[in-house]
Amino acid sequence: MAIATINPATGETVKTFEPLTDAEIATKLDLAERTFQQYRKTPMSQRAEWLNLAAAILEENKTHYAQIMTQEMGKPIKGAIAEIEKCAAVCRHYAENAQAYLADVPASTDASSSFVRYQPLGAILAVMPWNFPFWQVFRFAAPALMAGNVGVLKHASNVPQCAIAIEEIFHKAGFPEGAFQTLLIGAQQVDRLLADDRIKAATLTGSEAAGMSLAAAAGKQLKKTVLELGGSDPFIVMPSADLESAINTAVTARMLNNGQSCIAAKRFIVHQAIADKFTTQLVEKFAALKVGDPMQPETDLGPLATPGILKDLDYQVTESVKCGAKVLIGGKPLTNRQGNFYPATILTDIPPGSPAEKEEFFGPVALLFAVADIDEAIALANSTSFGLGASAWTNDDGERDRLIDEIEAGVVFINGMVKSDPHLPFGGIKRSGYGRELSKEGILEFVNIKTVWVK
Ligand code: NDP
Repeated sequence: MAIATINPATGETVKTFEPLTDAEIATKLDLAERTFQQYRKTPMSQRAEWLNLAAAILEENKTHYAQIMTQEMGKPIKGAIAEIEKCAAVCRHYAENAQAYLADVPASTDASSSFVRYQPLGAILAVMPWNFPFWQVFRFAAPALMAGNVGVLKHASNVPQCAIAIEEIFHKAGFPEGAFQTLLIGAQQVDRLLADDRIKAATLTGSEAAGMSLAAAAGKQLKKTVLELGGSDPFIVMPSADLESAINTAVTARMLNNGQSCIAAKRFIVHQAIADKFTTQLVEKFAALKVGDPMQPETDLGPLATPGILKDLDYQVTESVKCGAKVLIGGKPLTNRQGNFYPATILTDIPPGSPAEKEEFFGPVALLFAVADIDEAIALANSTSFGLGASAWTNDDGERDRLIDEIEAGVVFINGMVKSDPHLPFGGIKRSGYGRELSKEGILEFVNIKTVWVK
């Protein structure tokens, strides 16, 4: 894939970039290594000061950064601004809490003193996707930098200007040159980076295919990885739920970021007693969404990020319909305008074996299922290879406890939409990946957990 800014709302190629040569990559890795040797000794209070400055830079320029994102990947501008604010919040969270997260932990043993100490590893490679081009990077970078690591970013090829802007933010905030670097490179250059001694570990957010490839290459080098991959999150609604709140949240949870979120609600599993009402209202609310130019603040649904994402989604819907699924609204790309536009779509009567039953739909398509009881709801929720998030709606205590205990996912939200929060760990099980980001668990992924025993 060429490294370029191509406006998804118009198809216009705005700017192209040459990938770095091997010699340029080597220079940057040398700098990362040298910087790490000094940076690891900086006091935590100094790192926190720089990270708070990064938060301030983000907030002061939020419209500018939001516009870069929207131009490169098409998310509605109001969501883009919220994303920048969330990046500032994660910087502040780690600036405030990293010292406590990484404090020595004493243990009572046969030593006169024994404890656990957390130390940085060195340069960590982050391979990141285009869907939340700032957030995905900041949620990696804030804990990594606070822990004393240095970051090397290989961003998705369609968001190069976001990648460059992020490097500049850390630099302007005062972090030493080399503490956080962007490498403009293609995916095929990642394996060689993983084989380089100067890279100590890696994290990837993206597709299963990319995750498997990165983990295999890192495994050959015995390097640790964290993977945050796809999801086909269930959104379960039981009769005791506050239906109005559930339906309003269902729309947001499916449509956020034009439907391109790993933790978007994708499969709506609704008890049959309320399924008709839920369906009718969901169709009405989808029909009312304003599709259009993502730069306009009133737009709810913008274009998909790339022609490839549009083509894949169209194929999945078309194949599901061929298998017998019914379209309640939408169902075909919007051809009356330029760009990668796909309408808000609802599929129902989804047959076993169809793409809608087993695959992740990365776009504004809701998949509806009616179930007879809680057993069927849980079984259907778990009948996927993914295990990222789940949102379940009920006011019955027994049902709530079963949903919390029995749903196979890294994240369960009851009566709310799945979202990431710096105070809580975030990540999946099954084919959604492994490891955790955010909170204390997130910062502990890329440290040497050193055992110290003193007689
Ligand atoms: P990819 O997984 O291909 O891209 C994500 C990142 O991984 C990009 O930086 C990409 O680089 C890089 N990459 C791709 N292949 C490899 C590889 N073999 N080794 C190392 N790095 C690699 O996502 P796509 O953009 O192709 O989207 C396809 C699907 O992935 C979506 O439909 C969705 O299902 C899922 N996805 C999930 C995301 C999530 O948040 N969990 C985010 C994005 C996508 P480059 O851009 O240069 O190819």
